[in-house]
Amino acid sequence: MISVTRLLATSALAAVALSAALPAFAADKGYVGIAMPTKSSARWIADGDNMVKKFQEAGYETDLQYAEDDIPNQLAQIENMITKGVDVLVIAAIDGTTLTSALANAAAADIKVVAYDRLIRDSGDVDYYATFDNFKVGVQQANTLVDGLKERFPDAHPWNVELFGGSPDDNNAYFFYNGAMSVLQPMIDAGDVAIPSGQMGMDTVGTLRWDGAVAQARMDNLLSANYTDQTVHGVLSPYDGLSIGIISSLGGVGYGSGDMKMPIVTGQDAEIPSIKAILRGDQYSTIFKDTRALAEVTVGMVNALIEGGEPEINDTTTYDNGVKVVPSYLLEPVPVTEANWEKVLIDSGYYTADQVN
Ligand code: BGC
Repeated sequence: MISVTRLLATSALAAVALSAALPAFAADKGYVGIAMPTKSSARWIADGDNMVKKFQEAGYETDLQYAEDDIPNQLAQIENMITKGVDVLVIAAIDGTTLTSALANAAAADIKVVAYDRLIRDSGDVDYYATFDNFKVGVQQANTLVDGLKERFPDAHPWNVELFGGSPDDNNAYFFYNGAMSVLQPMIDAGDVAIPSGQMGMDTVGTLRWDGAVAQARMDNLLSANYTDQTVHGVLSPYDGLSIGIISSLGGVGYGSGDMKMPIVTGQDAEIPSIKAILRGDQYSTIFKDTRALAEVTVGMVNALIEGGEPEINDTTTYDNGVKVVPSYLLEPVPVTEANWEKVLIDSGYYTADQVN
């Protein structure tokens, strides 16, 4: 099913192209607009690349756009895709609450919408959601934090921990935080974990736009206000880009050298700088989310929307976006530490050993 606008655009293009100079379009199945948040993090680049590859293999034409974390920019890109006559939009939102009217325009043009990785909120015009089990990501982050605390600081009691959250405009950030707190809150209640700053809750520990510099500055403040006469043993970080900033703040006051052990710092996305930090012993863990698998699931959903079949979903209760519960497919996240990084990341072909060493 290719929209009329798209057909006209395609034939106009064919007329001016005149020759076989352009690669042949295998794009008879449809046209997919892919709106990604930013190129500042490697995971989104991998997401975009994997999707373009898999959509093209499946016979779709694609328009992939990145918005550099600028909300008006992402809105303009989506409106432009609608004007160009895409059949389906696949969107990883910057701010999950800002797309309501853009998606109403898409629905009016009979364009289907798949929310990619991040839930799009406040809209009835979201057909499916392809993501990972985001609550489980948080549980795994906290579990690796606790494993690391036991391993590196067996004699400390309580363990002094500070908490970081993701961007408050990203629905995922609450799932990560709540998942992590499902493990940590009972330990806080039991007196095994202390939060010396007292800073808890997403409205206090959130990090707007997942900005590593913001996390680094907050860690600087936490250290100078709370740790002049005690040690921090662990930091819950929800994303590798924040972890790198946090580690650099910790290193700045001497952690990781002499007899000041580096605290246990978690992460997410298995980005290469963080794998290197894990191998150096600076970061303790990350969470691998295979973007190849996410792209595969997304292509399956789009195929079903275009061909009228039933897409594979495995969750119809968790992701209420404020207007509807969006039918979802949740993939399994995988915790990564120094003990399993090769098996998970190299043996699976996600990275080559050269990229990491
Ligand atoms: C994604 C994470 C990512 C974060 C920052 C979240 O929505 O699920 O994988 O670390 O955004 O880009």
